[in-house]
Amino acid sequence: RLIAPEQQDPQEENLDRAIRPKTLADYVGQEAVREQMEIFVSAARKREEPLDHTLIFGPPGLGKTTLASILANEMGVSLKTTSGPVLEKAGDLAALMTNLEPGDVLFIDEIHRLSPHVEEVLYPAMEDYQLDIMIGEGPAARSIKLDLPPFTLVGATTRAGLLTSPLRDRFGIVQRLEFYQVKDLTHIVKRSAGILGIGIDDGGALEIARRARGTPRIVNRLLRRVRDYAEVKGDGFIDKGISDRALDMLKVDALGFDRLDRRLLMAMIEKFDGGPVGVDSLAAAISEERGTIEDVLEPYLIQQGYIIRTPRGRVVTQSAYRHFGLKLPQSHSQ
Ligand code: ADP
Repeated sequence: RLIAPEQQDPQEENLDRAIRPKTLADYVGQEAVREQMEIFVSAARKREEPLDHTLIFGPPGLGKTTLASILANEMGVSLKTTSGPVLEKAGDLAALMTNLEPGDVLFIDEIHRLSPHVEEVLYPAMEDYQLDIMIGEGPAARSIKLDLPPFTLVGATTRAGLLTSPLRDRFGIVQRLEFYQVKDLTHIVKRSAGILGIGIDDGGALEIARRARGTPRIVNRLLRRVRDYAEVKGDGFIDKGISDRALDMLKVDALGFDRLDRRLLMAMIEKFDGGPVGVDSLAAAISEERGTIEDVLEPYLIQQGYIIRTPRGRVVTQSAYRHFGLKLPQSHSQ
């Protein structure tokens, strides 16, 4: 899926490496987060202490991993990266943590997917830099305590509500990333185009930014696809006309919705009379996983006001009917 906000292929990862910002100054948008982190980082550096444990939450593609690596870079320490589902056993986490240098940043992506016993090992590690693990089995089993170097845990999750409260409470800093404004995405497109040597004007950049679902990863991906189009159908330069035609060909509509967004909204309208409808019924209706709807599809549709969440389920708003050129049914109360 072209506008999927998740990372999809390793090749993309390589291309991303060149355009991923490395300093807070290069981190576009998210002013409040940036301003706060600048202060926390310089205070920690002044005290020569590690940065407080930091939790970053926000939908995929908004810059959680990027921010984690920037924090390590700004603190002048190394970054070790892992993710919740990868850490199956307490020993996996112990192996990682005993390899940390003082002050290092340990980044755990999808931290809400840690298994409960791994999570329990994390608590004393976060609080007292102590590792408390069981070795051996049966009667010979014993628990050993190890001292860890002071470190910073940076955890990322798509929704804060997925975290257990003991874990959430152990983060001194909690940052929530918002969808990016079009002006920030335009800035990101121009910055990436500059790094990749792509010719683009303001109109071309704005059109790509407008259709990128508020998400930096998507804006960069669309830029690369529009570049392909510009090289084949034009002279390689991206202006508004080229952007428009390329994105239309890619079936990303004027609001940045793709087939899956349209399928979701149309299913709500056609099969459920606009709602309210529960997320499980919706998932079944469009043959997608509930998690994809909750983490990937609906956050942007809700933020943009096409869907609202009510205690009885999701409801489509007037704007969605209008977008599809449909008339609002009489019974619709929105
Ligand atoms: P997440 O971890 O939230 O899924 P990433 O940190 O991997 O998202 O970000 C996806 C891509 O978007 C990165 O490769 C980076 O190039 C770009 N990006 C993210 N945040 C920003 C930002 N604030 N400014 C510029 N580019 C960004």
